[in-house]
Amino acid sequence: MALARIGLGANLGDAAATLERAFAALEELGDVRARSSLYRSEPWGVTDQPPFLNAAALLETALEPYALLHALKAIEARLGRVATYRWGPRAVDLDILAYGDLRLADPALTLPHARLYERAFALAPLAEVEPAYAAALAALPAAERDGVQRIPVGAARNRRAVNWDDLLGRVRSAAEFCAASGLTRFRLNEGDLCVDVRRSASARAEAAVAPVPEPAAASAPSSNGNANHEPAATVLRAEFVGIVRLSRPAVAAGSALAEDRELAYVESLGIRNPVRSGGPGRVRSVFVGDGEAVEYGQPLFAIEA
Ligand code: ADP
Ligand code: MG
Repeated sequence: MALARIGLGANLGDAAATLERAFAALEELGDVRARSSLYRSEPWGVTDQPPFLNAAALLETALEPYALLHALKAIEARLGRVATYRWGPRAVDLDILAYGDLRLADPALTLPHARLYERAFALAPLAEVEPAYAAALAALPAAERDGVQRIPVGAARNRRAVNWDDLLGRVRSAAEFCAASGLTRFRLNEGDLCVDVRRSASARAEAAVAPVPEPAAASAPSSNGNANHEPAATVLRAEFVGIVRLSRPAVAAGSALAEDRELAYVESLGIRNPVRSGGPGRVRSVFVGDGEAVEYGQPLFAIEA
């Protein structure tokens, strides 16, 4: 077992929520002995980007240093892929600030972290959970220290831990309620949690008059008959608001499906929601591109049985 000091940073989307999820993910790697408050530092230069939020954790772990680095990168990738908004790939940065008393000069893993002693945004949260670092923080120039502010307790510490299963359950219920009632928007506020489900008017219009992306697919894909004598097609729709990822090999209009297969998945709140063909058939139309944001109910594929 070793005591690792982990630095957490985020500045995209709901950075505070991302850091909460990162703290939760650290629990998978060992025993989180302490976690700091969140610290805000204003971005330098480009001032129209959101402020950076940083935090630190003391992690007692059985993972060796490189295995820990690898695990942190996996968490970065997982949390960086949070869907719904077009965030960059770096929604969260997890660094090993120090690992026991270990010293390493490897560029792939430098310990302590190469810039730890120059950065108030790394030292300030670390000093909160491990006072031994307070002297290093105090040694930094005042201007560097003043650029970092601890977020008031109410905004950071008392943030309610989000129960993701519960939240997803609510999103599902709200989506089903919208679909069943014909409402286009349903919003539920409870404390600092807000579930806002929107069903786009365009998606509903498309349900009545299906999109015609190419002349070859000129008939309206519809599951209940159509005017010209093309075989009936089923329109597969997004059941979640999120980002579409086409499964490889990606299908195109005309692709034959030998059996039920995953055509894509919709990433929503970090969860993969598969979109399956439901059986063998032929793809009549593909209405979305890889990486596109989709709304609830938006047509994704038209499939002929
Ligand atoms: P940043 O310097 O902003 O943390 P990255 O997270 O992209 O940038 O890290 C770049 C590289 O730094 C990583 O690929 C990693 O191998 C290397 N690295 C070296 N030392 C460390 C450390 N102590 N913690 C995390 N990454 C490190
Ligand atoms: Mg990093």
